[in-house]
Amino acid sequence: MITKILDVSEEPINIDYIKEASEILKKGGLVAFPTETVYGLGGDATDKEASRKIYAAKGRPSDNPLIVHISKFEQLQQISKDLPDTAKLLADAFWPGPLTMVVNKNKFIPYETTGGLDTVAVRMPNNPVALALINESGCMIAAPSANTSGRPSPTKASHVYEDLSGKIDAILDGGSVDIGLESTIVDLTEDVVTILRPGYINMDMLRQVVGEVRMDPGISCGDKDISVGAKPKAPGMRYKHYAPKGDLTIVSGQEDKVVSAINQLTSQAIAKGLSVGIIATSASADRYTSGKVLVIGDREDEASIAHNLYDILRQFDEEDVDVIFSESFATPQMGQAIMNRLLKAAGQQTIEV
Ligand code: AMP
Ligand code: MG
Repeated sequence: MITKILDVSEEPINIDYIKEASEILKKGGLVAFPTETVYGLGGDATDKEASRKIYAAKGRPSDNPLIVHISKFEQLQQISKDLPDTAKLLADAFWPGPLTMVVNKNKFIPYETTGGLDTVAVRMPNNPVALALINESGCMIAAPSANTSGRPSPTKASHVYEDLSGKIDAILDGGSVDIGLESTIVDLTEDVVTILRPGYINMDMLRQVVGEVRMDPGISCGDKDISVGAKPKAPGMRYKHYAPKGDLTIVSGQEDKVVSAINQLTSQAIAKGLSVGIIATSASADRYTSGKVLVIGDREDEASIAHNLYDILRQFDEEDVDVIFSESFATPQMGQAIMNRLLKAAGQQTIEV
């Protein structure tokens, strides 16, 4: 299969390409498309075969459910059962946007899309290409991140092409995504709203809308008060994910100490004949004396850190570095989300200095 690239990065969006992609979806094919979080790999959420193709293209375990993308609140009502009032409150506050809600499903969505679960994850993305595709195709679009399972999520069309070229029908290239981390997932099927995956929409923002909110105890995001060892409720959070090829260690603590510890670890690794990558900020980059240093962003601009994380992990993969050292980024709004992804990429390997 030849994967077609449809350039929709310029405004106004080329509607012919949206129509072409919609036809592919309607015929049961797969199209990758940009959202404000990461690129998604889309298929018709009501079509079992399309869902099977998504799992096959990604090499995704079949028990790891897909997120269904919609463009109208009524579509959530159409595919759910016992929808709680909190769903409307959260939709009014955050949709379209980077929030996914897990609700009880009805028969409309097949088990192939939900990994066999009786619940379905639903989101309304805030991206003009994604919304145009949902509207034009008339499909609710099942879409996990458009990467090979286990690789960092794609934040550019070129990342999708690297992983899925030849395996999917088309890629709508909408340029670099906005946020760069996957959506916040909340479970609305229990008494208390529970965060299953941290993202741009954080605990405080959710509490302002629905009151009590808790974090799934199985999730690690750098907070000491959260128990490690519990099983995460979102199946996808149980798999080793976002793993770079190089062995990644996070070094955290006061900045001067972190810089000298990373410099020392880097010299030791180089002495053993290993190649080293370092994830630094614009302020610290010049202080590293050896290794391949990449700047993730600016500590005062946490959006830059979220935006560049996956691209940097992919760059180190391309360079085939043996080990990677990263500073820690417990920033105010997205710190939990950033550290959750970085900790997973590091297999929880951290050094406190
Ligand atoms: P991705 O789109 O690749 O970020 O993957 C979707 C994420 O949503 C995975 O971590 C899934 O485990 C999670 N997810 C999807 N549906 C459900 C559900 N019904 N219950 C819990 N988690 C879900
Ligand atoms: Mg994913």
